[in-house]
Amino acid sequence: MSPPASDLLSVKTIPGAGRGIIANCEISKDTTVLNSEPPVAHVLFREYRKEVCAHCFLYDRGRTLRVKDHDTGKVFCSASCRQGWVDYTGEQGRSAWRDLYHLIHMKNKGGKGSSGISLTDHRPGIEEIDRRWEKAQRGADEYVRTRSDTSNALGDTGRKQAKGALASSIDPDILGYLLSGILHHDQQPDRWREAVMTLAMHDEPYSTTHDLEAHCNSFVQLCSIMPVSLLRSCTIEVCRALAAASSHNAFGIRSGGEDGEEYMGYGVYPSASYFNHSCHPNVAKQRVGNVWRFWVTEDVRQGDELCISYLGGDEKDLNVRQRRGHLQEVWGFVLHHPVFDLDASKAIADWQWSGPPVREAAMST
Ligand SMILES: [Zn+2]
Repeated sequence: MSPPASDLLSVKTIPGAGRGIIANCEISKDTTVLNSEPPVAHVLFREYRKEVCAHCFLYDRGRTLRVKDHDTGKVFCSASCRQGWVDYTGEQGRSAWRDLYHLIHMKNKGGKGSSGISLTDHRPGIEEIDRRWEKAQRGADEYVRTRSDTSNALGDTGRKQAKGALASSIDPDILGYLLSGILHHDQQPDRWREAVMTLAMHDEPYSTTHDLEAHCNSFVQLCSIMPVSLLRSCTIEVCRALAAASSHNAFGIRSGGEDGEEYMGYGVYPSASYFNHSCHPNVAKQRVGNVWRFWVTEDVRQGDELCISYLGGDEKDLNVRQRRGHLQEVWGFVLHHPVFDLDASKAIADWQWSGPPVREAAMST
């Protein structure tokens, strides 16, 4: 379901403001207008890996959840969530998560942390991004060729090469985000193309060269450990699209729904990405398990644009400067307009996407 369409709403081009969601008819207050699908790619940050259910994202503060999948390290709030995750992920996907779990485990045993972010680092431009990904492709080609020639298991050569991939630092959050997207792509490549490739994409989504490097390394590392049958979806096109889509389309996964305290991860929910931002939103959202529900908070007329606030409910009392800072931090854009409280369609025309992707906000908190 992307872009969203129903009796209640449809996606239209808003003059000067890209796409937006328009009410097809009068809608009365509190009516649910959209239930999103589960994310096409998401990550629960590593520091929450023992406290957040991998299936329904339930958070039990400070407590290790009791149901564990020992092969993959995933935890669940209940046996039924575990079963739900196993069914959704499939045997092949589970095997890939197991391989990633082992990679991270081995790497941690080595005692090498990921390298730090240099203060003099810069935001890489498109040419630098292309060059770096071409290099990653050459590295990945080696693995793909060797591994496709042999069996599913890593042969001696494959093992040697996996060691090579381990020599560079790993980023479990990026690896997990990419793997979730790759698995989704592999399950439904046509639907994935329709849902993800039509989203607003950021051409230069990496906030630093370190971030770009980490994505490229993660791609090569995944090529080195991924079950051979999944290599068709572990491609540069998919990995680059996942980064490009996350900048503008990711929703934070927080412990209490929209305005909960803990920022535990983020996900891309394509059908939900068509709502524009307004400082006077007429739509509210709440996370319900691994999906989002959207409902109108006032009576809406036919032809009205339906807008959400990209700010969480807890920021309502912030002043303009604080709000602007928060939008930049979390959503990676700056609102270049003298007056922040604008009609959404005008405001959106003035947005310039310029900041870091969502995950940067998580790293700094
Ligand atoms: Zn659960």
